[in-house]
Amino acid sequence: MHERTEISTLEPPAENGTDTSLPTTAWNREQASMAYHIDRWGSPYFFINSEGNVGVRPMIDSDMEIDLMKIVEEARTRNIRLPLLIRFQDLLRRRVVELNESFRSAIQEFGYQNRYQGVYPVKVNQLHEVVLEILDAGEEYNFGLECGSKAELLATLPHLDRDDMLLICNGYKDSTMLSLILTGQHLGKNVLPILEKYHEFEEFLAAAEQRNLIPRFGVRVRLSTVGSGKWAESGGDASKFGVSIPQIMRVVEHLKEKEMTDSFELVHFHIGSQITDIITLKGAVREAARVYAKLMKMGLSIKYIDVGGGLGVNYDSVDFGLDQSINYTLQEYVNGVVYTIKEICDIEEVPHPIIVSESGRALTAHHSVLVVGVLDATRREPELPKPTISNQDEPVLRELSDLFETLQHIVADTGRGERQRLARCLEIYHDAVEKRGDTDQLFSLGYLSLEDRAKAESLYWGLIQKLDKTLKSFDRDSLPSDLYQIEEMLVDQYLCDFSVFQSMLDHWAIDQIFPVMPIHRLNEEPDRRGMIVDLTCDSDGKIDRFIGDDGEENYLRLHALNDNPYYLGCFLMGAYQDILGDMHNLFGRVNEIHVYADDDEPDNFYIETSLSGTNITEALSLVQYSASDLRKRMDAVIREKVKGKGIRPKQGVEFLEQYLAALKEYTYYNFEGVVGDKKRKKQDQG
Ligand SMILES: *Cc1c(COP(=O)(O)O)cnc(C)c1O
Repeated sequence: MHERTEISTLEPPAENGTDTSLPTTAWNREQASMAYHIDRWGSPYFFINSEGNVGVRPMIDSDMEIDLMKIVEEARTRNIRLPLLIRFQDLLRRRVVELNESFRSAIQEFGYQNRYQGVYPVKVNQLHEVVLEILDAGEEYNFGLECGSKAELLATLPHLDRDDMLLICNGYKDSTMLSLILTGQHLGKNVLPILEKYHEFEEFLAAAEQRNLIPRFGVRVRLSTVGSGKWAESGGDASKFGVSIPQIMRVVEHLKEKEMTDSFELVHFHIGSQITDIITLKGAVREAARVYAKLMKMGLSIKYIDVGGGLGVNYDSVDFGLDQSINYTLQEYVNGVVYTIKEICDIEEVPHPIIVSESGRALTAHHSVLVVGVLDATRREPELPKPTISNQDEPVLRELSDLFETLQHIVADTGRGERQRLARCLEIYHDAVEKRGDTDQLFSLGYLSLEDRAKAESLYWGLIQKLDKTLKSFDRDSLPSDLYQIEEMLVDQYLCDFSVFQSMLDHWAIDQIFPVMPIHRLNEEPDRRGMIVDLTCDSDGKIDRFIGDDGEENYLRLHALNDNPYYLGCFLMGAYQDILGDMHNLFGRVNEIHVYADDDEPDNFYIETSLSGTNITEALSLVQYSASDLRKRMDAVIREKVKGKGIRPKQGVEFLEQYLAALKEYTYYNFEGVVGDKKRKKQDQG
């Protein structure tokens, strides 16, 4: 594991001379690493390079570096539009090797008398290239696959290149599925259905008998150990998964009667994904190993224990206090599995089984990065100086303005206790909200001019900003809730070219936090605080929870926009996210490139495959609009105008061509050079 280095230079950069408006230069990449916690979730794969960009180290056996910005630049010169999903195929391979090597070393260290033979559950990322890459990297380890549905079985069955590689079939199986599995076994392949219900067992045996085959299968055991974390599956008696112990006894009796005890080859469990607590996992392994051992003693000859999925990923950091944090490393997980099984088997004096695991998230999460462009940033706070208010102004404006002075007094009045000063701040806040409400009403009733209203809004936001600054000197957790939310009121909104519902479904659905950070300008201090809003017309289309110093934070430190494009990276997107998505607002799949490391190339990489995202015609066809029908209708609309001499025929032809060309476009924003902050500042206040 990577050592977390403590950085001693974290005091705010010293101010040069008296001009504090100069951009601070004393910002370095160590500070950026700390600000975005990149070592916690990204190490050793992601880091900040000397250019101030995010770098990637995809290879296991070399420290070759690839600059993420260079990839984005090359993609753009090749006219591949953002948002862009970048797959690092080498990183995928690297994780496969790391998982297998961890098992190898634990097996050696503990003197385990059998081997590890893992499978990849394709539901985590079904993309064909992902599956092929994992199989290729896993060939040396005889790594196999896991499927959970009929479609996945059809996709995986033809990929069993070697007879002894495993294909584990989970989920509820209909007769077609059971029969296909038998065909796989008939072909001499190592396809094992995991029976979840007693009746599945009966059906499978009957189907085998009909075809005169000796069936082979595994059984998912209903454990009493319950998973932990937000992905936990209901365990214990209430679980909808697994065969109970009494039913397993029935299976064994039946097999003994038929002299088919060898058919029962595998004991399986799965207590959920992203298991947060290693102790829970070990408890489940212990329970399953006991079941295995007792069954062996009853005369079965089970070959495998399958510990399911659940190996977690550090989306934030080890033991970081968020409910998705895991408290263990990859090697600790592997050690726990190997050691626990060995311990129980030795006590029970039964042979060590082959260990199978079904890790999906841990293999795929790291390999894909979503890069999105920032289209615009909206600031809350006024950038204009505080308007001067005189005796000629409306009383309500004078009252708002007076609040500034009251606040000034509180700041200066250090004689009073903290609680008293906080109570006064709260009073000022409530007064400001009330006066602002008054001005809005007076305006609606016609008593205030537009200029007055502008002054009122500027004063209000100026006051909020000043309150925010004042409150910085208090412990944030001691603030009353109205004051606590002031910080949030001032966070900028960064409008980004993507859809949360398409690309980061779990952020919206189950509040998962993903690492997000700028992929460049990291040698500049990020002096803005922002949240991210997406292109969908939906108030949930946003990212407003981020990894903070100690827990969750409601803003991300970002740079002010300038005249160049600004790109953000969303990391660890490879598991469960990057192929899901729900056509919200008909955005659809994003463009995708597959990047390979190659040190013969000038920038250490080449783009192998580029897959186009959903175009508008495709998105519309999913909701039953056909392109030819739309064309006919648009044509009719235009023809009518031409006939009525509203437009010239040539114009009509041009309009139709424009419409047809747009139908072929990418669904996302046409991100051709974003306009920076400077040009927009003025109209974007409030
Ligand atoms: C989803 C699932 C997995 C994969 O779990 P990860 O936590 O992603 O490793 C493995 N096995 C079964 C039965 C599953 O349902």
